[in-house]
Amino acid sequence: MTSAQYSNNLEAFWMPFTANRQFKQNPRMLVGAKDMHYTSADGRQILDGTAGLWCVNAGHGRTKIVEAVSKQVAELDYAPAFQMGHPKAFELAARLAAMMPKPLDHVFFTNSGSESVDTALKIALAYHRAKGNGTKYRLLGRERGYHGVGFGGISVGGISGNRKTFGTMLTGVDHIRHTHDPARNAFSRGQPEFGAEFADDLEKVIALHDASNIAALIVEPVACSTGVLVPPKGYLKRLREICDKHDILLIFDEVITGFGRLGTPFAVDYFDVIPDLVTTAKGLTSGVVPMGAVFCSSKIYDAFMDAPENTIELFHGYTYSAHPVACAASLATLDVYAEEGLLTRVSEIAQYWEDALHSLKGLPHVIDIRNLGLIGAIELESIPGAPTKRAFQAFLKAYERNLLIRTTGDIIALSPPLVIEKSQIDEIFDTLSGVLKEID
Ligand code: PLP
Repeated sequence: MTSAQYSNNLEAFWMPFTANRQFKQNPRMLVGAKDMHYTSADGRQILDGTAGLWCVNAGHGRTKIVEAVSKQVAELDYAPAFQMGHPKAFELAARLAAMMPKPLDHVFFTNSGSESVDTALKIALAYHRAKGNGTKYRLLGRERGYHGVGFGGISVGGISGNRKTFGTMLTGVDHIRHTHDPARNAFSRGQPEFGAEFADDLEKVIALHDASNIAALIVEPVACSTGVLVPPKGYLKRLREICDKHDILLIFDEVITGFGRLGTPFAVDYFDVIPDLVTTAKGLTSGVVPMGAVFCSSKIYDAFMDAPENTIELFHGYTYSAHPVACAASLATLDVYAEEGLLTRVSEIAQYWEDALHSLKGLPHVIDIRNLGLIGAIELESIPGAPTKRAFQAFLKAYERNLLIRTTGDIIALSPPLVIEKSQIDEIFDTLSGVLKEID
């Protein structure tokens, strides 16, 4: 068979998070990408309203990253990170640590957001044990949270569809309530006014299980994958206070909010709340090479460093942790971010984005609009008896009109590359406005 014959056979690839049979009847193929656009197989330029999957923060096909990756493959294609090292891994970790507020000054490398989450959960459990608090084994997540698809991530995650067919998952996990409150907060611009008190649900869960049994709470600072649930004002600070009071580690999952999405390097900076661990991936390499990183505080790292020097402190790691090609991609990505001021650029365009997004209020089916930084969501009323159908229609129509959006349930989610121009923001919302007027 020729390569064309193989690629025309759509059967073998079991596509992730996709309606395989529906897609294969009418495939949407991307064959190229540059800056703000994809090129489709039928030769159209598709405006990327989602930075791929919330990851291509620097825009597509950035020469500096492409060159760094090519050079690295030729120079050192692979090096093990177990009992061996290569300079770029240390350079990248030091550079990342310098970007984070203290005391988050150690970095563990993974290959994805899911692996970052599993890593952070394992570090949290092992930390308490290292401190002599081995009864602290329970992990807490939040309803409507998304933390990837590993068994750890789906256990602390709060999306029933991602959990219900996968057995018992981790035991000892519980969830605090989500923060979504459309009755009080619909059409809020930025952080909602109401709901800081939802953090007190954590006290309730702690009272049930007792703090002596709880290791950590993981939350996304902004819950993106379940439809952009922006934390109410004061909510995250309150979570931090409660965790401190009970010696519970706080983990921020910044796989999406990390690397400039909110107009600050990390959500940690935006909300001025410092957790004990931060999970990242996606924007770390601008999506070019798979890579994740977990930041942890010196308090945690130091707790592992008490054992005799010849002992391995953490029995955890991946064949591709700190892969040289990923490190090179990330270092070049950080250069692009620094040279172009991309980690703070969103603070300059966020107001324009917010105004353009909220101009869709009043259009057919729109029941809520939410935003923060360069993230937006438009929630549509579901068609009775056919949830998800309306938003999926919008997705297909937008794609026909050369715009890539993402939908979850009946919510349209937007998160373009951080290099977007104002005229392209206008284009996104002009297209969407037309689409919303046309769908059933
Ligand atoms: N955590 C969050 C907050 C995410 O948004 C995602 C992916 O969207 C993940 C974890 C999982 O990342 P990955 O798909 O790279 O495993």
